[in-house]
Amino acid sequence: MAKGKRLILLGAPGVGKGTQAIRLAELMKWPQVSTGDMLRDNVRSSTPLGLQAKFFMDKGELVPDELIVQMVSERLSRPDCKTGFILDGFPRTVTQAEKLDEVLMRLGVKLDAVVSIEVPTETIVERLSQRLVCQQCGYVVQKNDGLKIGDRCPRCPGSISRRKDDEPETIRRRLQVYEEQTRSLIR
Ligand code: AMP
Repeated sequence: MAKGKRLILLGAPGVGKGTQAIRLAELMKWPQVSTGDMLRDNVRSSTPLGLQAKFFMDKGELVPDELIVQMVSERLSRPDCKTGFILDGFPRTVTQAEKLDEVLMRLGVKLDAVVSIEVPTETIVERLSQRLVCQQCGYVVQKNDGLKIGDRCPRCPGSISRRKDDEPETIRRRLQVYEEQTRSLIR
């Protein structure tokens, strides 16, 4: 197994954080810790966290920090994250970043890199409005890849669907939320 690394992938919705995180995770054998995927799993299983999170996710708003931080803290404490991880979609607020510092300190580990992926807004809007995903593993396909809603995922037994928050109105709100609450993290 490759020596572990602790990375954060930052970037607006639709820049390709998830796609790059999946590739890196497969190549390097570091677990991908995607807060969006974890929340969607909770929504699908109707857990108490999922029921609370759905309300915010459907509107394109951020799920409150305390819910997210607890979920991530628990995830990063598991044995598979001991030698490294790729954080995808977290942190998204300055408070989350500060809480992450505390979690890393408690675990006695340090970050190796933060990568910010930048893509022009027009490209993001175009991509997200074309995006279809596997409900089960999060694999992303574009409508013009020849797959349609209801088809089977090329990677797992899951089925291809469209994320509810990829509707044009919600895409706009998510980009606005990124500018208002997440972009300042880069500084
Ligand atoms: P994503 O798949 O990363 O685009 O996340 C989908 C949705 O999950 C976001 O629009 C938020 O509602 C929620 N979410 C994911 N990660 C976070 C986070 N770190 N903080 C707050 N909400 C999040």
